[in-house]
Amino acid sequence: MSITDQAPAQEHPAATTFDSLDPATGQVVGTHPVHTEEQVRAAVERARVEAQWWSGLDFADRRRHLTAWKAAMVQRLPELVDLMHREGGKPRGDAALEAGLAVEHIAWAAKNAKRVLRRRRVPSGLTMVNQSASLAYKPLGVIGVIGPWNYPVFTPLGSIAYALAAGNAVVFKPSEYTPGVGEWFAARFTEAVGRPVLQVVTGFGPTGAALCRAGVDKLAFTGSTATGKRVMAACAETLTPVLIEAGGKDSVIVDADADVPAAADAALWGACSNAGQTCIGVERAYVHEKVYDEFVSAITAKAQALHAGPDDKIGPITMPSQLDAIDAHVRDALDRGGRAVVGGAGAVGDRFVQPTILVDVPEDSIAVQEETFGPTLTITKVRDMDEAVELTNASRYGLGNTVFSKAEGVTIADRVRSGMSAVNGVITFAAIPSLPFGGIGDSGFGRIHGADGLKEFTYAKAIARQRFKPALELTTFDRTDKADQRFAKLIGVMHGRGAKD
Ligand code: NDP
Repeated sequence: MSITDQAPAQEHPAATTFDSLDPATGQVVGTHPVHTEEQVRAAVERARVEAQWWSGLDFADRRRHLTAWKAAMVQRLPELVDLMHREGGKPRGDAALEAGLAVEHIAWAAKNAKRVLRRRRVPSGLTMVNQSASLAYKPLGVIGVIGPWNYPVFTPLGSIAYALAAGNAVVFKPSEYTPGVGEWFAARFTEAVGRPVLQVVTGFGPTGAALCRAGVDKLAFTGSTATGKRVMAACAETLTPVLIEAGGKDSVIVDADADVPAAADAALWGACSNAGQTCIGVERAYVHEKVYDEFVSAITAKAQALHAGPDDKIGPITMPSQLDAIDAHVRDALDRGGRAVVGGAGAVGDRFVQPTILVDVPEDSIAVQEETFGPTLTITKVRDMDEAVELTNASRYGLGNTVFSKAEGVTIADRVRSGMSAVNGVITFAAIPSLPFGGIGDSGFGRIHGADGLKEFTYAKAIARQRFKPALELTTFDRTDKADQRFAKLIGVMHGRGAKD
């Protein structure tokens, strides 16, 4: 079967259903509805009713429901893993790891929502000392979530779990490549909780576009930068706020004092796991000249032992059109003087792409500038860490990053313009639920995970309560000249010092 045969059912005006296909074999995994604009609106209206009930529960009740959902998923994990394997092509071990880490996030969000969001007292300041000031984070209502296929559980749940824990209802549109996975975990929610606070709508881009326009209170999008711009434009029509988790071009930086075998191992896994289809995948390596040769030899030896195939550690490319993009990046790198020490021309097959390690690739080539989303890595020699940071930061993306250094890891990571960095490990930040996840620049904005991820799906509600009558009556037309003078004096005493001359 050729690549084109394995493309999912194309969007057709009359199509009411579409098939999800196994990217390794082209076989049909499941058939799903193409939800119309009207049906998406109906789902959002239904969600509004659910949001009223769900937001009316206290944090402890929501935690109990979310725990029941999490347990229901874990008890049937082999079923989910099998579906992830068949729909996305992901090796079963990787699918189990992804699902397990996603469950950790549900647990963290459920446990910490009360601590992060409940009403708390804040200082009212000297001029407002008669006031008691307090702040709480309230659910927005209905959150629309649009997700990608590459991590069909971990990625959307990064938004969904935090939105639910914050007291919102959710309508989720999974990628057309992995609709069954989304339907599966939403069904477990309804079974566990007894109400469809989490609903799924399926279809193609227009179904996602309809969700943007359906009156949701916020839209959380994860996908490519190009689609993110379209989503933001659609949401702008109704002033619907957006969270954009888009692509990346993450680097690994290797310092002269690094544990080079560990860095090579991490870079290879970061580049090639999930067939390189990872937003926080490693796509570039900047290696100190003192350890460059050792790093290239170590990664070459390891990569030569890796293979992509049906039962190998690297699975198929999920989205057939991506094969051409990966091929174009590799060819451009080779045409412009780069060398493949592993893989290279011919690495891109009908469904699988063999690991490809490229050296001497010019910094302005597309393999260095654009997101490749395949099992490829460019390695560049740098004279010092300043150059490594400068080249890393020259990207329009700013999602994640990795640093290998014994003495200066955190110092180097702190200089990298990205939402997250891992030091002497790879992608570790994503599995730490208390750390926020998200990017800057073309990688998007807003945060999932952690306290920031909970607050992302809320609005801040401030209350100032008068405790006793103020000494200075300021907010009245009866304010006296004397009060004005005393206020001016107070401001002078409090803030008048510290001028430079
Ligand atoms: P796409 O941008 O192609 O699609 C993302 C989602 O948007 C899909 O559900 C898609 O539906 C939907 N969609 C498509 N067109 C529209 C539209 N006009 N309006 C609303 N929704 C629409 O991304 P991919 O699925 O290919 O995912 C890969 C990308 O995601 C990579 O760039 C990767 O880096 C990024 N990503 C980012 C992450 C992060 O957290 N920063 C995490 C994981 C991935 P359909 O599939 O039906 O077309």
